[in-house]
Amino acid sequence: MGNKAVFIDRDGTINIDGPYLDDPDKFKMYPNVGKGVKKLKDQGFKIIVITNQSGIARGYFTEEVLSKIHERMSMEFNEFGVELDGIYYCPHHPDNACGCRKPKTGLFENAIEKHDIDVDRSYMIGDKILDICAGQKIGVKTVLIPEAHNRTKILSEKNEWECCPDYIADDFMEAAKWIIKM
Ligand SMILES: [Mg+2]
Ligand SMILES: [Zn+2]
Repeated sequence: MGNKAVFIDRDGTINIDGPYLDDPDKFKMYPNVGKGVKKLKDQGFKIIVITNQSGIARGYFTEEVLSKIHERMSMEFNEFGVELDGIYYCPHHPDNACGCRKPKTGLFENAIEKHDIDVDRSYMIGDKILDICAGQKIGVKTVLIPEAHNRTKILSEKNEWECCPDYIADDFMEAAKWIIKM
């Protein structure tokens, strides 16, 4: 039996969505994310960040800047006693038709192979429907946490969603608790 994991989207789920966050000093983690991820780790979940970063292909920032942002994110998690197991990003432009930009599943496939992940016992948490669609394609259960300022809009478009999450949470802690209860 492989490892269980929680895949987590970055922008809008872990941190306030920029968009195109291009500076580690502008990285702002949502309250409850550190504590919530700690709870998941304590239950034995691997924690893997899966993020679309087309800002690289667009020339808005370099991979070097992105890795500085990810160092900052990892440090902030460390303060909660959490070591992230992996950070996977797609640097491509949406027009590139790469195999890794969510809702495609390339990043998940890499992580699953590297960390020997059992999808049947794993989850995806994200703020957008494309996160949910990607998670479902790879076969994990999914939790949507619409970002507060987008919440009303996202929920009002429910009948147009391409796929439906297993659960909709108000914030990260609620998502973590639902996963642990499952
Ligand atoms: Mg997002
Ligand atoms: Zn890609």
